[in-house]
Order: sequence, then C-alpha cells, then structure tokens
Amino acid sequence: MKLSEMPAASVIQADKFEMIGKPPQEIKVCVLASGSKGNAIYLSDNSTSILVDAGLSGIEIQRRMESVHLDPNDLSAVVVSHEHSDHIKGVGIMARRFNLPIYISEKTRSAAVSRLGKIADLHSFECGTTFQINGFAIHPFSISHDAADPAGFTLNTSHCKIGIATDLGIATELVKKHLRGSRLLVLEANHDPEMLQTGPYPWPLKQRIKGRSGHLSNYDSGNLLKEVLHDDLRHVILAHLSQENNSPEKAAGVIGPILAKSNTKLEIARQDQPSKLIKIPNNQ
Ligand SMILES: [Zn+2]
Ligand SMILES: [Zn+2]
Repeated sequence: MKLSEMPAASVIQADKFEMIGKPPQEIKVCVLASGSKGNAIYLSDNSTSILVDAGLSGIEIQRRMESVHLDPNDLSAVVVSHEHSDHIKGVGIMARRFNLPIYISEKTRSAAVSRLGKIADLHSFECGTTFQINGFAIHPFSISHDAADPAGFTLNTSHCKIGIATDLGIATELVKKHLRGSRLLVLEANHDPEMLQTGPYPWPLKQRIKGRSGHLSNYDSGNLLKEVLHDDLRHVILAHLSQENNSPEKAAGVIGPILAKSNTKLEIARQDQPSKLIKIPNNQ
C-alpha cells in the first residue's frame, strides 16, 4: 500500500487509541545498525514499515535494508529519537529520496534543523503523547541523555508491544514503567565500566558517558532488564555497544545469566552489519 492511500497519521491520547484494520500476522524487527557511528531500527507489520532513527548515510541504509531483503521503497515513515548525528545523519536524505514523513519532537527538530535540510512532510510529537502511524500506536517517553528532548519509544500493535531505549544515562522509573510488558526490547548496553575507566577516551568524555545524561553500562542495562523481565518477553536486543569500551562477550556475560531461566532470546546488535530479521508471529 502506498502511503498516500493510507489514513493520515494523527496525534491521539493513549487511552483513545484504536487499532486500524485487521491485526497484523507478524511484526518484523531488524536493527540495521547500532552504536556511536550510526543507528537505525526497522519495524514492520507488513503493511506499515517504520525506521526509528536513520543515523547512517542514505545509501548505507538502503544497502543494509537490501542485504536483509527489505525494500526501502516500502518504508512508511521515519521516527527520530534525538538530534545526535548517529541518529539523524540520513533522516533528511531518506525523507527526500523516498518521500517519507518524519516524526520528530519540536525541540529535536530545532536542534537538528540545519542538518535535516528541507523536509516536506513533518509531524511533531511530544514525549508523553501517543501518536499513530497506521497500525502502530507509538508512545514517545523522555529519557535522560544530553540532547534537546531525547525520547525512548514503545510501538504497540494489536498483539505486540515493542520497547526501545538506547542513549540514556539512567533508567528512571518512567523508563521502566514504559518498557514493562514489551515482547521485544531494544535496550542499550553501552559500556563495561572497567573498560571505559582504563580505555583510551579523554577524561571529560568518560565522565559524559557514565554520567546521568550519558549511556547505560552493561550492569545498568541488566538491572533495568531484571525489573521489566516477564514471561512473554521473547527477545532482547542489546544495542549501542561501544566498540572501544565494550564487547559482545562482555555484554552477553552480564545479560545472559539474567535471562538464563527465561524463554527470552538474546541478540546483540552490531555497528557494522544488520541484525537478523526477527519475526514475532501473532499466535505466539
Ligand atoms: Zn547514539
Ligand atoms: Zn545520543
């Protein structure tokens, strides 16, 4: 379905949300890239396909989508979490090349305006207010990070809730509240504190990363996960791992044991290549 044939997206209250059309058979998720050099998450219910952030060049996003057999022409919208370049680098080009609407908070748009370029179809959202893109009800919520108006998201369809929280210095009660009940979580596990401490970064950058407006360590991520873990959490994708101050083995070493007695599958998103395409069927 072309976007022009779809009902216009609108800002709605969470309690007024109604599902549009038939329940989707499955939700597909692929983290196309994750880390300080670029982030993009693909989510689809097979009729609506959304990118949360587009922090690679347009051509690289296209290349990565095609490498996992996804067609960028099928995209419906891009939703932006915050203005750091690892999240918005390709937003303008993707909007213009594929005629996509962009969903962004007003403060984030102001902070990013010179780097976004001209965007024909711009929609403002506010943290705390649910908006709808066809069958997805998207709830942005505030996170603690050194950006103008940084947001985490839950994306809800009739049968599935997906939670996304990367780029946060601390996991507040608000973050935990929103992530509870998710069937798939994309969760930051940025650094191993010891590697950060002894690593090559200058002192101010180390302070920024581990500060309240920085990034979650593997242990912070694990503590958050313990509080939101439930029987129906099917997948955890660890994201935004530092290439200098973390390793997939270190992150898995902390998070793996927390999930050991659960049915939750653990994936680790990478900077240099897309994750596998995860499918969450309706009947699960
Ligand atoms: Zn980032
Ligand atoms: Zn950031």
